[in-house]
Amino acid sequence: MPRNPRRIKGMSVRTVEEWVPLIHENLAVIEERIQAACDSSGRKREEVTLIAVSKTQLHEAILAAHALGLRHFGESRWQETETKVHALPSDITWHFIGKVQSNKAQKIAQSVDVIHTLENSRQLAEIAKQTRTFDGLIQLNISGEEQKLGIFPGNLDRLVEDVIQCKHVRFRGLMGIARMVEDPEECRAEFRLLRQEAERIGVNWLSMGMSHDLEVAIQEGSTHVRIGTALFGSR
Ligand SMILES: *Cc1c(COP(=O)(O)O)cnc(C)c1O
Repeated sequence: MPRNPRRIKGMSVRTVEEWVPLIHENLAVIEERIQAACDSSGRKREEVTLIAVSKTQLHEAILAAHALGLRHFGESRWQETETKVHALPSDITWHFIGKVQSNKAQKIAQSVDVIHTLENSRQLAEIAKQTRTFDGLIQLNISGEEQKLGIFPGNLDRLVEDVIQCKHVRFRGLMGIARMVEDPEECRAEFRLLRQEAERIGVNWLSMGMSHDLEVAIQEGSTHVRIGTALFGSR
């Protein structure tokens, strides 16, 4: 395995064979972290789905992760998602975790299995024009930061009604992104808020936890962790 892979515009160009040992090693560390977080909170490993966030990664990296048994992948840009969904194995479950622009909403709904980032009724009006059914989560702004996407908790109930009305969405749960801080322990209250809101409205998928904060998220009830950097390296 070359120490310094060729690079295109800052992107590592590795073959599938070169990716496999790297991802294998990273995956072992992630699995240990997930297991430890489950153990520390009395949860079972099967309750947590690992989504490999493959945005910006080339097909070779995804194929290597697939060869190692991963089947859930997360993407955040429509064009990239479209190409990957067509080119990569059909047993992959595709999760859309980026901003859903209204003018792309129909296409995204027709292509992916789960959309984590429903946040307004314009998107839903577009989604209602197509006929494919998918699993949907509402992105909740749990960090209180204006620049973050997602709906503020105070506006959640109205959007929930719209999502339930939208017949092509199986409404499953909530997704959130915590503040980026050095000590993820500081974000425990944000993850807890997401769990409490989900319990209140009666949904049970909690998409929360990323490379640096998955432990706290799992302890607070995460069912879907979204892991990019810890699996594929920095983007
Ligand atoms: C990029 C991204 C991730 C993965 O982040 P890492 O820190 O690389 O694990 C998770 N969730 C969303 C919404 C993202 O955009």
